[in-house]
Amino acid sequence: MKSYRQELWFQIPVRRRIVRITEQVVECLRASGIREGLCLVNAMHITSSVFINDDESGLHADFEKWLEKLAPEKPYSQYAHNGAEDNADAHLKRTIMGREVVVAVTNGELDLGTWEQIFYGEFDGRRRKRVLVKIIGE
Ligand code: ZN
Repeated sequence: MKSYRQELWFQIPVRRRIVRITEQVVECLRASGIREGLCLVNAMHITSSVFINDDESGLHADFEKWLEKLAPEKPYSQYAHNGAEDNADAHLKRTIMGREVVVAVTNGELDLGTWEQIFYGEFDGRRRKRVLVKIIGE
C-alpha cells in the first residue's frame, strides 16, 4: 500500500470565504501516483471546514446567510466562548459545515459525482491555516 501526505496552506484576507480546492486535491492525487484507494481532505483548524457541494455562487451566498442565521457573528457578547477571542460563531459554523471529506480514488481519478466539488470553508480568516490531504491505496 502507498501513502501520501500533503498540507495545503491558505491565508484568506477576510473573515469568511468559500474556496474551491478540487484542483489542488487532484494535483495531490497526481503527485501520489495512487490509482485505487481513498483520499481524505480535512481542515486542521477548529474554525474552518472542508466540504463537498455545488460550485454555484447563489448557493454559496445562501450558505453565508443560513450560517449567519444559525450562528450570527455579532453581537460577540452573546457567546460564552468570546472574551479573549471573538470567534465563537466560527467554531459553530465549522461544526455545521464539517471537518473533512473522503473521496474514493478510482482509476487514478477522484470519483466525484457530476456536480460535486471540494471546498475549503473559512470562518475566521486573516491568518495562515492548513488543510491536510492524505491519500492511501495502490
Ligand atoms: Zn475560539
